Amino acid sequence: MSLTDDDFLRLLNEIGDTEALIVNVVDIFDFNGSLIPGLHRFVGDNPVLLVGNKVDILPKSLKPAKMTQWMRERAHEVGLRPIDVLLTSAKKPQELTQLLDAIEEHRHGRDVYVVGVTNVGKSTLINQIIKQTSGIQELITTSRFPGTTLDKIEIPLDDGHFLIDTPGIIHRHQMAHYLGEKDLRIVTPHKEIKPKTYQLNPAQTLFLGGLARFDFIQGERCPFVAYLSNDLDIHRTKLEKADEFYQKHVGGLLQPPREEEVADFPELVRYEFSIKEKTDIVFSGLGWITVTKPCVVAGWAPKGVAVLKRKALI
Ligand code: GDP
Repeated sequence: MSLTDDDFLRLLNEIGDTEALIVNVVDIFDFNGSLIPGLHRFVGDNPVLLVGNKVDILPKSLKPAKMTQWMRERAHEVGLRPIDVLLTSAKKPQELTQLLDAIEEHRHGRDVYVVGVTNVGKSTLINQIIKQTSGIQELITTSRFPGTTLDKIEIPLDDGHFLIDTPGIIHRHQMAHYLGEKDLRIVTPHKEIKPKTYQLNPAQTLFLGGLARFDFIQGERCPFVAYLSNDLDIHRTKLEKADEFYQKHVGGLLQPPREEEVADFPELVRYEFSIKEKTDIVFSGLGWITVTKPCVVAGWAPKGVAVLKRKALI
């Protein structure tokens, strides 16, 4: 079952009408793709704890304090004023203590609603919380596929209140919706990301598998740093040959998508950016490429998946 937008809005309104602490789980690797549009309006006066999950895949070069500060700034930009911002990893039980302490500190005897879009790791996180707080193992199954988190589950807290897991809303701009299970495993980082640096001349192109493309159009030769899953193959070509190269090799040399998936795979759409300072070009759900010098670049992603620029994170 996937939740319709209407159902989700109803759920959010319900939350706004109760007194609760809202825990908003986001994927730090896909921050923009994990924001819930208008969340700040729905929570009413309820405090929001912003939790960045998957801290285990952050490259070591990024300090946690810088990341949380950055998350706070981005949250403010969309009108969300979290009482606290913290990082966690559903895959590292030892990271959970801080989260549970923060929830206890901020809930002041109220219920806790955990909200998030699909694929941020909310089920995995809830399972960990259940394990740590009650000893019951695998009470709910984690959903590998977006939109398959089923039940609203209530975990009793020690004062008669509940921690309530809500179904994940589907975010249509996530890359995950266009990929099969195997491909999702390739593009989703599972361990610490190892940044890859490319010295590019103008008029060179990088293909991120066959899923996305980065063109260096104009500027001086300089380094570009890719923060992507270690398992995603990157190919460099000449810009003038890039269209032809893609047509010829998508599904073959350029994977994912697989050969049999190419027919249904959306065409790549181009977004051009004029860069003045150190900037990340973000391919929603895939990762980002840091542009270090002023130049003109273009990012391409499957139709429906966002490409955007942001102040460099690292
Ligand atoms: P949900 O849709 O938000 O409930 O997400 P899931 O719990 O099903 O997780 C989505 C994907 O992210 C799965 O492949 C998980 O294994 C993975 N995942 C969840 N939490 C973490 C984490 O802390 N670190 C890493 N590296 N992967 C995670």
